[in-house]
Amino acid sequence: MSRTVYVNGEYLPEEEAKISVFDRGFLMADAVYEVTSVLGGKLIDFAGHAERLHRSLALLDMRQPVTDAELLAIHRELVARNGIEDGLVYLQVTRGNPGDRDFAFPDPDKVKAGIVLFTQSKPGLADNPAAKTGMKVISIPDIRWGRRDIKTVQLLYPSIGKMMAKKAGCDDAWFVEDEGVVTEGTSNNAYIVKGGRIVTRQLSEDILHGITRAAILRYAREAQMVVEERAFTVAEAQAADEAFVTSASAFVMPVVEIDGVALGSGAPGPVTRRLREIYLEESRKAAI
Ligand code: PLP
Repeated sequence: MSRTVYVNGEYLPEEEAKISVFDRGFLMADAVYEVTSVLGGKLIDFAGHAERLHRSLALLDMRQPVTDAELLAIHRELVARNGIEDGLVYLQVTRGNPGDRDFAFPDPDKVKAGIVLFTQSKPGLADNPAAKTGMKVISIPDIRWGRRDIKTVQLLYPSIGKMMAKKAGCDDAWFVEDEGVVTEGTSNNAYIVKGGRIVTRQLSEDILHGITRAAILRYAREAQMVVEERAFTVAEAQAADEAFVTSASAFVMPVVEIDGVALGSGAPGPVTRRLREIYLEESRKAAI
């Protein structure tokens, strides 16, 4: 069935939606994006995603083409029109279409930023069977650019990373740099649990500031769990009791094997399972 998508002010059937060949998102990956999950027809942490969008746009000197209120209304309209019960809303803002190819940024007073939103229906998104068995990950060199805190559409290397994982018979990859130090997953933040302590890399330009990460750390601290925000190595992860990743689309997902080494019992651990439960419960309560 054809979806309704939103492109620069219009709701259109996906077959009729068009973007210029001169759009800078297409030519230069000059665009940022957000992904918001939908559970029970409601948006999870919309405010967090809107805030990160502001930050990404500001850091790239781009203007938000619609107000936050309009953005929320478009999200809701697409969820309603496409009958999304559980799923995802993707939002992309590009520097627009200057009418020709040129490295220089166009004048934002003359070329308006482009905006596209679309939905993906994912029935049972919160009941992903992988949450019961856990994921196997491989480590690969982090050769992405130095501003990973900006959520740009430069997703080629993360795609390559996921293909490398698939080829190795695994589910995902963790990026490493500086002799085995983990930065994050291809599309998620990475954590280990040792002796009940939750360890995840501190925020910097080296990783995306996950919206799910912020929520998880808040819930963990509220539940009196100990959180350490610091870097960890693959070797430390392999010796950990548990590991997991977080993202808007996977919530809290256990990791049970890293580079062929099984963690702890080889099954999702109690801290990970508890955090997933808390996250889903609290997020559903706060959904709008
Ligand atoms: N890190 C990277 C590289 C990502 O691509 C993502 C999500 O797409 C995340 C972390 C998790 O961020 P969030 O929790 O906001 O989805």
